[in-house]
Amino acid sequence: MTTFRIGQGFDVHRFCRGRDLWLAGVRIPSDLGLEGHSDADVALHALTDAVLGAVAAGDIGEHFPPSEPRWRDASSTIFLEHALRLAADRGYRPVNCDITVIGERPRIAPHRHAMCVSLAGLLGIDEASVSVKATTTEGLGFTGRHEGLAALAVVLVVSDELG
Ligand code: MG
Repeated sequence: MTTFRIGQGFDVHRFCRGRDLWLAGVRIPSDLGLEGHSDADVALHALTDAVLGAVAAGDIGEHFPPSEPRWRDASSTIFLEHALRLAADRGYRPVNCDITVIGERPRIAPHRHAMCVSLAGLLGIDEASVSVKATTTEGLGFTGRHEGLAALAVVLVVSDELG
């Protein structure tokens, strides 16, 4: 029997100076990075929560508490890989994902392809099954004031176990 499940994730990080900006596992040239305990990759955090949500396995804060010194400056790819392992333990693998990065800057378009390649590699799926979109909030709210970035992620997972 084939079973599909869907998960969604949302995350926000504040801009800061003196840190690299990582999005979807790609270092993006920018004068501002994102504040956070790990590398603060807001797109990977949203996607990690989406994978965890799809298999009802808690959330990223539960699996990787910010109070843990070992996650300081950690690559967020570790978090996604852990979530994918938990999904695999339950018999699920990702089918496709759709991510929206919300903010006024930096421009995502020049980096979209690299981000899709990175995500496809992490998820073990085809690039054609990975979508990265970007939007602004028309100058409104914290993203409009250039205070930080938000990201939304949706992922579909499938189990092909014979039942
Ligand atoms: Mg986060």
